[in-house]
Amino acid sequence: VAPMEMTKWFNTNYHYIVPEFEANQTFSLGSTKVIDEFIEAKNKGILTRPVLLGPVSFLLLGKSKGGDTQSLHYLDDIAPIYREVLSRLSQEGAQWVQIDEPILVQDLTADQIDAFAKAYRVLLGNQNALKICLATYFGSISDKIQQLVDIPFDAIHLDLVSAPDQLDEALDYIREPMMLSLGIVNGRNIWKTNLTPSLCTVDKAVQAIGKERLIISPSCSLLHCPIDLDREENLATEIRERLAFAKQKLHEITVLQKAAEQGWNAVQDEPDENQAVWTRSQESDVIHNATVQERMRSLNESMFSRSRPYSERKVIQREKLHLPELPTTTIGSFPQTRDIQKARADYKKGVLSEVEYQFWMAEEIKKTIRFQENIGLDVLVHGEPERNDMVEYFGQMLNGFAFTQNGWVQSYGSRCVKPPIIYGDVSRPGPMTVEWIRLAQSFTDKPVKGMLTGPVTILQWSFVREDQPRKDTAWQIALCIRDEVNDLEKAGISIIQIDEPALREGVPLKQSEWPEYYDWAVKAFRLATSGVEDSTQIHTHMCYCDFNDSIEAIAALDADVISIEASRSDSELLKVFAHFNYPNDVGPGVYDIHSPRVPSVAEIKTLLQQMLKMLRCDQLWVNPDCGLKTRDWPEVEQSLKNMVDAASELRDKL
Ligand code: GLN
Ligand code: ZN
Repeated sequence: VAPMEMTKWFNTNYHYIVPEFEANQTFSLGSTKVIDEFIEAKNKGILTRPVLLGPVSFLLLGKSKGGDTQSLHYLDDIAPIYREVLSRLSQEGAQWVQIDEPILVQDLTADQIDAFAKAYRVLLGNQNALKICLATYFGSISDKIQQLVDIPFDAIHLDLVSAPDQLDEALDYIREPMMLSLGIVNGRNIWKTNLTPSLCTVDKAVQAIGKERLIISPSCSLLHCPIDLDREENLATEIRERLAFAKQKLHEITVLQKAAEQGWNAVQDEPDENQAVWTRSQESDVIHNATVQERMRSLNESMFSRSRPYSERKVIQREKLHLPELPTTTIGSFPQTRDIQKARADYKKGVLSEVEYQFWMAEEIKKTIRFQENIGLDVLVHGEPERNDMVEYFGQMLNGFAFTQNGWVQSYGSRCVKPPIIYGDVSRPGPMTVEWIRLAQSFTDKPVKGMLTGPVTILQWSFVREDQPRKDTAWQIALCIRDEVNDLEKAGISIIQIDEPALREGVPLKQSEWPEYYDWAVKAFRLATSGVEDSTQIHTHMCYCDFNDSIEAIAALDADVISIEASRSDSELLKVFAHFNYPNDVGPGVYDIHSPRVPSVAEIKTLLQQMLKMLRCDQLWVNPDCGLKTRDWPEVEQSLKNMVDAASELRDKL
């Protein structure tokens, strides 16, 4: 059975399984989890507010398979199921239920909004035993607030962290007895709330609609935030005092609520202490680095472009690199075996000394290089054995980053990630990868590709400071990567790959905000990569990206070569490149590395022939669709061998 598609929850790194609807889909209540959990808590004496994902978000986030039925057509079928759940919760004694409709912060058509209003009128009916809070988050609903206040919800929740401006309109339009839930404590980031401005916001709302109609809450679910700062023992005081994890955020909410009910005096010294943290952080030289800021001020246009256009660089690079047609390469990592993981762990624990560790890794790199030479790959990699994670590895070598011991957040299923914290100006104390790549290059005459993570991906997979625009932080990181790229070039490395798998993931929820995002994100990549000679070949790599709506931005990166995940969505994706007339070189993955299955020579050849119908022969590279770190050696050996053979057979034919 093919697994269902998994995708990111809005602009977070939390994934959900995409619902699929088939023609004549029927619905029934398949699980009583939400009711069982309500009862379980009630039996412990805790009255909870159950949370349901609303039907409109559920349907719009799902996909209709077979026939292109608009999924909202199922609203009539699904509304009775919701009614059933609500009435059972009410029977069990629930007083409030929260229904999340985050889809409301995206662009919806007038028809979709009408369908929303109609569905909720049916769903809420004229029961009034149970109170319903409509929750929205990750953006503004001010374009829809007029319609929403006409639906008989008992409360509406606003995310005032990602969209503070929507408060005024909401206060204008909301009518008694509807309540307003102010999401003013950031549920997605790890910074303390700035209490003084938050208290002002609360005050304003109290004056407009009265404290009885206000609810104070986090901006969104605390799922995206680590649990408890009290469990962190290694953070510097200057950083720690600025942080609040989920437990600490709950305290902030109680402080704000108390102030709303009883006035500022009731919360005593809390605002002053909080203000002191903010003042200290504005002055801290752990956070602010004059050299970095000076460098940011001195950026100029020429730092964002290679000196010659791609067509000219291509000729120069060809002369230097002597690569065959259909050059073969890999995405960077080779299997992260238990032995490799053990070596890294032993080094961390001090069981392996620095010298022993270096020696161990050198052997591993040599082995990987020999293998690639033996099977006849054209552009080799060192295999990334020294890296635990493609963002953490770089964060640990840069200033401005901190790491938690227990700051886990759920990514998908039972998998969690521990994002680094970017707390201050980012700078690079010294080269980060040069010695490893130089070593790998010393083992072979073939070109070894340097391997770095791009600025946007480092930003996207971290908790980012909020005291400056994300763009500034991205560009500071870009400058560090730029220095690394230049150092690699100086060390004699002629091909350097800067991975940006998270470029597409960072796009804002409203399309109108895309151009601004892509502008600074693309520039971050260009800043990182434009410091090299025209003869140095810059690669990038992206996976699981909707290339359809971002091909222009991808072209604007102006990477000499891009490798992409293509085997799952095959021809559709290439059509985008073909249609756009994508000028630079492309390596669409020729097999799916997420499965241990070994692709045959014939199969890869056929695929390459199809690709050649859409891409020029002189622009096509041959590579797997992503890094090989989760695979085992036996299948990697066979798959890559087949890949190289397929390319060489086809080359002969051409
Ligand atoms: N260079 C990385 C690797 O090969 C790229 C990983 C990714 O695309 N996410 O593992
Ligand atoms: Zn990838």
